[in-house]
Amino acid sequence: MTLRRLLVLMWALVALHGLAQEPTPTAEPTPQPRPAPFLVLPLGAGGLELYFNGLTQGTMGLLRLASPNVTEAQAIFDGRAYPFFRPAGEDALYALVVARIDMPARAYPLQVLAALDDGTLQTQQTMIDVQAAGFLRLVFNVPSDRAYLINPEVERNEFARLGALTSRLNPLRQWDAGGFQLPMQSEMVSNFGQYRVLNNTVQTRHTGWDQRAATGTPVYAMARGVVNFAGMLDIRGNYVMLDHGWGIFSGYAHLSQMAVAPGQTVERGQLIGLSGNTGRSSGPHLHWEISVGGEWIDGFSLINGWLP
Ligand SMILES: [Zn+2]
Repeated sequence: MTLRRLLVLMWALVALHGLAQEPTPTAEPTPQPRPAPFLVLPLGAGGLELYFNGLTQGTMGLLRLASPNVTEAQAIFDGRAYPFFRPAGEDALYALVVARIDMPARAYPLQVLAALDDGTLQTQQTMIDVQAAGFLRLVFNVPSDRAYLINPEVERNEFARLGALTSRLNPLRQWDAGGFQLPMQSEMVSNFGQYRVLNNTVQTRHTGWDQRAATGTPVYAMARGVVNFAGMLDIRGNYVMLDHGWGIFSGYAHLSQMAVAPGQTVERGQLIGLSGNTGRSSGPHLHWEISVGGEWIDGFSLINGWLP
């Protein structure tokens, strides 16, 4: 055997080994250890733990109540009530609070009410800094054959329909220990949160991220969930939405084909459709978006953050 052939053989062995190490969407997930909280406040027998240090506009924060004597709890933030959920077999309760995308940057009170098993009620309060995200402002021109979609009423109707879909609070956590992942591996071509001015008529916000994708590129479920919508919308075109429980939803827009039906449970990494250019879109791409508690948030705060 020549040295050259030996080197090729060694390279092939290393390459095959590398492939075998590659994670697959269906691989058994490894639970990530819970990080240390940023703040612990007394509440109940244990404490109220905050896993965030302020919130950037359009992100969510995780609260944990590590008190076995708390039967029920609620967080009040930005004038809204967020229920705590208890995962099966755990003593702790969790809540996800959201800093709206258009929430003015300043400090806001966060209040937590806890009902204890002795029938008493306890409260705790702290201030949360909401920080400016520095969203960009972009001007777009939509092609004339789709100009009928540049209509504030179409915009309102679609947001109302999505609002109804995302207002549901399923107390059953659907995602598995693998949490959330990107729906495909490709370049991000448009950021979450941008102000968009369309044909000088409609002013809107970019509710998700856009990824480069030729029509027909496979789109995978970001986490385990139940399909709560699969159909045609004016702006989002062929659209699939998954309900992941606890008020978390993921949406996949402008699809050329849909591979799932409402009511179906899909696994993390399962094919849910093929990307396309349907609806109000100026070229083939994948738009994906995350809603928590009825508010659009930056999906990366879900993918990168720790979840129970
Ligand atoms: Zn988009």
